[in-house]
Amino acid sequence: MAVTPMMRQYYEIKSGCEDAILFFRLGDFYEMFYDDAYKASRILGLTLTSRGKDENGEKIPMCGIPYHAANNYIPKLLAQNIKIAICEQTEDPSQAKGLTRREVVKILTPGTVLEDNLLQSQENNYLMAISNDTLKNNFGLAYCDISTGEFFVTEINDPAKLVDEIEKINPKEILTATNLDIRLVQGFFTTVYNPLPYKEARDRFLKFYNIHSAEAVGLEDFHISFSALAAILNYLEKTKKITGFLNKPKRIDNQDYLYMNAVTLKNLEVLSALNPQNKSGSLIWVLDMTRTSMGARLLRKWCAKPLYNRELIQQRLDAVDFFHTNFGVLAELDSLLGEIYDLERLNVKIANQIANPRDLISIKNSLNKLPALYQILKEIPSNLKNLLLFPEEWLKATHDMSVEIEKIILDEPPVLLNNGGIVKSSYSEELDKLREDVKNSKQWFIDLEIRLKKETNIKSLKVNYNKVFGYYIEVTTTNLPQVPDYFIRKQTISTGERFYTQELKEKENFILHADEIIIKKEIEIFTALLADLKKYTDALQIIADKISVLDCLTSLAKVARANNYKKPVLNDNGLFKLQNSRHPVLEKKPDSYQFVANDAFFDTQTSNFVILTGPNMAGKSTYMRQIALIIIMAQIGSFVPAQEANISLTDKLFARIGASDNLFEGKSTFMMEMLESSGILHNATKDSFIILDEIGRGTSTFDGLSIAASIAKYIYKQIQAKTMFATHYHEITSLTEQYPLMKNMNIAVVEEQNKIRFTYKVIPGKAEKSYGIHVADLAGLPKEIIRDATKILEELEKEEISLHKNKTGKIKQLSLF
Ligand code: ADP
Ligand code: MG
Repeated sequence: MAVTPMMRQYYEIKSGCEDAILFFRLGDFYEMFYDDAYKASRILGLTLTSRGKDENGEKIPMCGIPYHAANNYIPKLLAQNIKIAICEQTEDPSQAKGLTRREVVKILTPGTVLEDNLLQSQENNYLMAISNDTLKNNFGLAYCDISTGEFFVTEINDPAKLVDEIEKINPKEILTATNLDIRLVQGFFTTVYNPLPYKEARDRFLKFYNIHSAEAVGLEDFHISFSALAAILNYLEKTKKITGFLNKPKRIDNQDYLYMNAVTLKNLEVLSALNPQNKSGSLIWVLDMTRTSMGARLLRKWCAKPLYNRELIQQRLDAVDFFHTNFGVLAELDSLLGEIYDLERLNVKIANQIANPRDLISIKNSLNKLPALYQILKEIPSNLKNLLLFPEEWLKATHDMSVEIEKIILDEPPVLLNNGGIVKSSYSEELDKLREDVKNSKQWFIDLEIRLKKETNIKSLKVNYNKVFGYYIEVTTTNLPQVPDYFIRKQTISTGERFYTQELKEKENFILHADEIIIKKEIEIFTALLADLKKYTDALQIIADKISVLDCLTSLAKVARANNYKKPVLNDNGLFKLQNSRHPVLEKKPDSYQFVANDAFFDTQTSNFVILTGPNMAGKSTYMRQIALIIIMAQIGSFVPAQEANISLTDKLFARIGASDNLFEGKSTFMMEMLESSGILHNATKDSFIILDEIGRGTSTFDGLSIAASIAKYIYKQIQAKTMFATHYHEITSLTEQYPLMKNMNIAVVEEQNKIRFTYKVIPGKAEKSYGIHVADLAGLPKEIIRDATKILEELEKEEISLHKNKTGKIKQLSLF
């Protein structure tokens, strides 16, 4: 059996996009066939039908969706990591000779969407490519967000670090070189690509940006990453997303940033709470008082990648300080920022020529706020200007842009182009004339009704319009005998008849046609404007960048004011000192919650290792996390929740949180704990900060104790990083007797009438008791169990274990050193 020409066309197009569901445009529908139809009908809940038969005489399974409803269905497919190839009719079917020409106009994939309804405004949508050099274990990592134009590249020489970086960036889609070990990208949506050799990849890249050497973008020492960069460009070309604009890739040099592995970021609840149900409870939740989506996205990036560069941090801190002190300025900026839309993404829409009329109004309204913004920023201290002030010439450019939009586009236009109502009157004479004609013809119908009423003497005669039947003359049944001969019957309705006349038909034709011409003209004007606005994209991008930074810094100033934070003083003598510091998230707990503030002290001569003891629920984990969060806050340039903070910068921050606190993650195994610890021990330096919370908990007591003790010793002797070590092994506290920079601290509890009360106060010295039974008592265990446990404990304590060689040499005592 021969297949129809249309199905032949389908097969050909489908063979070019095997890995995507093909939306094949047939009239007003997108149809899907074969496996695509099975898949789509299942996921989208569509009815599966069939269309014709294939060459074997088998029915061809099919399902379809109306083209205008596609946007309701697409997100569901993308969410399942399914790509969609959109195939349109690329010529007018009424003009086509034979089969209408059809082409794939774009391929939608999770990492390459541009449509508002598919993007999250507060988060980036990254497409990543990874290349590797199998011999050296070197990886090139390139990632971009085409909705914002951002593009980054970095090289990584360790698989574990690669995995970590991927997890932190959290791309929506990853392109993986054919020779990449796919275990490295487990859990992500991937597409395999054939890596180009270095030279070819580099040339592809240089050609795309029209530059002559990698030096021009500071990538001359990069090698392996060029195939990843080229892979991104090729993929965007294949999915037809390259028409717009993509910034030159920004090289990420990790030595400028505070290093945190993905586990640390997660454990410290920087970007989201560990419990996904909990919307509040993360650091970003406290810090984000930004007014624009682009600011919100930037602040997330800052939190995930705090700085490790004193000058840059100081500049941000000084800016926050300035806004913090100058409240009037802050309030004015705040209200201006509140009226600025997502210029970053709007700008990319201009670059891609997909902005709609309402987008242009959003741009115009935003740009109109810039002069006032500029006036304020001109007065800020000169050392902050390069961070926040955009060049005056760009202000001029955006002013012109806003004037252009203002001149043409109505203030409240529709989103869609196809109904007109976009262009202001008195912009185009031609358009005005057409509109005038239409308007006059509306009057013509009114006049016609009056005239016909007189002529026929039918008082209830009406000239009306509806979408299906167009213009008609309506006469009720009782008046039908009076209808003149030249009325032509059009339709019978329950109350009478509808007619038309030759004259009416002609006028109707004119009007229907005129509307079409008007809409066409409006689209033409709009498209020309959009094309013209492209010349402003450079200016707009720089301004969007500056505004995002301003939004973040003013947000930090507002947060600092609202929560009574203090500006940290930075030093480089190894001192780390906090006075009355608080946990930024916990202190915001509602109700009459009173958070207890605590000090912290580390330096290089007297104390760089704190062993923290105290009963369960005493506040150990809270205290350690609060110090880690303060490090992060300070290094993004934020003020901190403390009365005073004088700190040296941390190069790498590690937070290993005990299995007990991480149970629902399903990663509570001892193996995980050891893997993480190993990562810390390999990477930490003397400038790092390490937080180890109840290490060794996941195994038997002696095992755990031995490992905990030897890890503590290793860090102290080999790494000398600032360390906080919370432990339930009281035996560990005796290490301080041998190592002078190790200090014991504990969190005080008060024992009252055999009950304990938590004070949450960190004090010097070790905890004398673990109070486990007291805590059990507080939790309401039966009294019988509490009494029994107390007795057993007394027995056990008689056979106490010590980490020290004991002087009397009793056999029962275990010696670890
Ligand atoms: P630990 O790690 O010692 O078992 P946590 O740090 O998990 O204890 O603290 C237990 C609870 O105690 C916290 O959830 C919090 O409600 C409360 N808490 C901890 N630190 C403080 C503090 N400084 N002020 C007030 N409440 C605190
Ligand atoms: Mg704890």
